[in-house]
Amino acid sequence: MRKLDTKTIVVASHNQGKIREIADLIGPLGFSARSAAELNFVEPDETGTTFEENAAIKALASARASGLPALSDDSGLVIDALGGAPGVYTANWAETADGTRDFAMAMEKVEKALKDEGATEPEQRTARFVSVLCLAWPDGHTELFRGEVEGHVVWPPRGNAGFGYDPVFQPEGHERTFGEMSAEEKHGWKPGDAAALSHRARAFKLFVETCLEA
Ligand code: IMP
Repeated sequence: MRKLDTKTIVVASHNQGKIREIADLIGPLGFSARSAAELNFVEPDETGTTFEENAAIKALASARASGLPALSDDSGLVIDALGGAPGVYTANWAETADGTRDFAMAMEKVEKALKDEGATEPEQRTARFVSVLCLAWPDGHTELFRGEVEGHVVWPPRGNAGFGYDPVFQPEGHERTFGEMSAEEKHGWKPGDAAALSHRARAFKLFVETCLEA
């Protein structure tokens, strides 16, 4: 396992929701972070079929373009009744004809697919959010960290906080969706805490334990 020995990293993302969440997680650790979006890096095609492959594609592209270590996140919603869909294609389900992303539409699509499967009860609508973080160095070395959070898909969407599919995901053991939680509640973690809630915070905890702590 390689340790991170710089205090500046690139957040290898063009997704403002993710950039904000990763910046919130990195902030207390004393890093300065620049994003691939703000550096005008070209967004690489996500041609992989796993979260791990796509996370590595994104992190390596930013590490090579910047000459700095780069941290990416590839994530998605995996729904059991839909055979794991939308999975690595979670962002694609939100794509519109004009190339923008519409998550209200994407959540409707998920709901329609679940209805078509006859999945109306919470126990038929089990799902997990997955986040794979990849830290890549300009020389091509990578470290991967996977975090998951179990829950179920609710309808109608609830809450305006967060981003993406947050309003339809209710994590196990909680009465509210991610869309109804503050960022602090959604992550449920800061350095030093024992447990984390969100998939991203769980993966981030592994990253900190592996690449930052002595
Ligand atoms: P990608 O990793 O850029 O391919 O996109 C993953 C997609 O999954 C995002 O565009 C979001 O729609 C969705 N997603 C990932 N993490 C979250 C989350 O924490 N909340 C809501 N949606 C998420």
